Amino acid sequence: MQKGNISVQTENIFPIIKQFLYSDQEIFLRELVANAVDATTKLRTLAAGGKVKGDIGEPTIEILIDKEAKTLTIKDQGIGMSEDEVMKYLNQVAFSSAQEFLEKYKNESSIIGHFGLGFYSAFMVADKVEVVTKSYVKSKKGVTWTCTGDPEYTLEDNDKKDRGTEIILHISEDATEYLEDQRIETLLNKYCKFLPVPIKFGTKKEFIKEGEGEDAKDTEIEVDNIINSVAPLWKKLPSELTDEDYKSFYNELYPFSSPPLFWIHLNIDYPFNLTGILYFPKVNNTLEVQKNKIQLYSNQVYVTDDVKEIVPEFLTLLHGVIDSPDIPLNVSRSYLQSDRNVKKITGYITKKVADKLGELFKKDRKGFEEKWDDIGVFIKYGLISDEKFHEKALPYTLLKNVDGEFFSIDDYKEKIKTAQTDKHDKKVFLYTNAAQEHDSFIQAAKGRSYDILEMNTVLDNHFMQHLEQKLGDITFVRVDSDTADNLVQKDEVAASVLSEKEEESIKTIFEGVIGEKMGSTVVTKALSPEDQPIVITKPEFMRRMKEMQSMQGGGFGAFPDAYNVVVNTNHPLVAEKVLNGKEEEQQDLAKYLYDLALLNQNMLKGADLTKFITKSLEFVK
Ligand code: ADP
Repeated sequence: MQKGNISVQTENIFPIIKQFLYSDQEIFLRELVANAVDATTKLRTLAAGGKVKGDIGEPTIEILIDKEAKTLTIKDQGIGMSEDEVMKYLNQVAFSSAQEFLEKYKNESSIIGHFGLGFYSAFMVADKVEVVTKSYVKSKKGVTWTCTGDPEYTLEDNDKKDRGTEIILHISEDATEYLEDQRIETLLNKYCKFLPVPIKFGTKKEFIKEGEGEDAKDTEIEVDNIINSVAPLWKKLPSELTDEDYKSFYNELYPFSSPPLFWIHLNIDYPFNLTGILYFPKVNNTLEVQKNKIQLYSNQVYVTDDVKEIVPEFLTLLHGVIDSPDIPLNVSRSYLQSDRNVKKITGYITKKVADKLGELFKKDRKGFEEKWDDIGVFIKYGLISDEKFHEKALPYTLLKNVDGEFFSIDDYKEKIKTAQTDKHDKKVFLYTNAAQEHDSFIQAAKGRSYDILEMNTVLDNHFMQHLEQKLGDITFVRVDSDTADNLVQKDEVAASVLSEKEEESIKTIFEGVIGEKMGSTVVTKALSPEDQPIVITKPEFMRRMKEMQSMQGGGFGAFPDAYNVVVNTNHPLVAEKVLNGKEEEQQDLAKYLYDLALLNQNMLKGADLTKFITKSLEFVK
């Protein structure tokens, strides 16, 4: 037996390791299993090159709990280590990298997150670690390395017969949770679900059919409990996969969610290596869809579901997996943000998603339109937040009008070219965000052959502003912001049947009835006799100011709702009845017409509404 001291500069790093990474303790298992996978992959590579004598069989990794001995063992059938290698890798390489790691992050405990420190993370949960190993080189003897959490270790020969390594963790008193089957199985499922070497954890019961026909019966058998699927979908070739494959993989990742809209299979090996599948989930016009559902893997080892730095913000709404050995994992996040590889990856993913959407649009425009309510959210978000994406996605960004027709922006400009251009030569995009409430306005605008867009999703205010700024030659105007004759530019209106003096007195009557209300202004206007007697409009500019103010959280209500009460002096009820009635009748009718207009706009509420109904009932009587 040999004894020795691991060359340490710091007195004793084990207590530090323990404390330091306490919050992220559980990753020790990922680190050790990942090492076992590496050892197995190396063996396979050597075997493929004819460098291993004999058949290597089907190497597996096994996780074992011994509750009595209080040990957790990770056992592989990989290349193993000779005495020299143990000295080199465990005493020098592993140790120095652990120490280096700690030196680096001593003052940044918050950024540790998923950054592993390899073999030595074992000491986070164990107060004694044994490594029992035998090299694949048959002439080398097996060795056992033992270390009890201080710089001393022992190394002795053993008579292990089979190739591979067993890491035996003597679990410390404060980490006994890692002796629970349930806990370990959960961890294995989290970190190891898609590792390329079968991982066995105990056994499970399965039923098989025995016998035939009537005699057939289910028999219970015990089989190995294999945690992972060694060839996950994203590693396969898209050409070999069916829609069903993608859907069932989605279901495996996110059980109980509705099927995805579609997906993009990423596969690149130059200038960096990245594979993955990104799914567009069904969002139903909300942004409540859970963000950060993309899982990041490094060579099939789960790393994190926090992909902010790797995936552009707007794509964090997508689901799925990304796997890249080129994303540097053992560095801090701030470094990740400025890393050139990561930047390239972000750019690539954006481009790929944009291209795929473009392809879908070209190939199957109808299908694209049907999905628009869902994918529109991503696209609008992308357009607003990502310059590059804007450029690529603008041609297939769609506008939907109140009749449910879809247009690309260019097509729409073309459609409204003659009718909807304002005096500054801008195209006027009329829209509603509440088609029900704006119905009378929509009808009036349609009466003038205008087209009206529907803009009622969460992002639409931003989206419209974005388009106005970016394109420069369009302006959005809400359909209730003015009477139809003024929406685009001042149209010819009918001559007033009233004299100026009569108009004045109409105005006075209505002002008297409405009273002083913050933000409301009475205007008389000679509309057509077929138009409504009173129209309540909300000027675009004032409304936007208010929206902006409330978005910035500025004192609510500081700006009143600004609206105009437009009295149509050509309407017979106004021009004849109100003007010529007895004083009391005048008041009553004016008030009634005003209430009707409020009602039309969903602005008549509470006691005012009750009074209005009582009065209507009297009229009917
Ligand atoms: P890293 O894996 O990042 O190189 P580790 O500290 O995890 O660092 O491990 C140090 C070295 O120990 C590995 O590079 C490997 O050579 C050796 N090693 C660790 N675990 C095993 C194992 N299960 N089988 C064979 N070699 C191993």
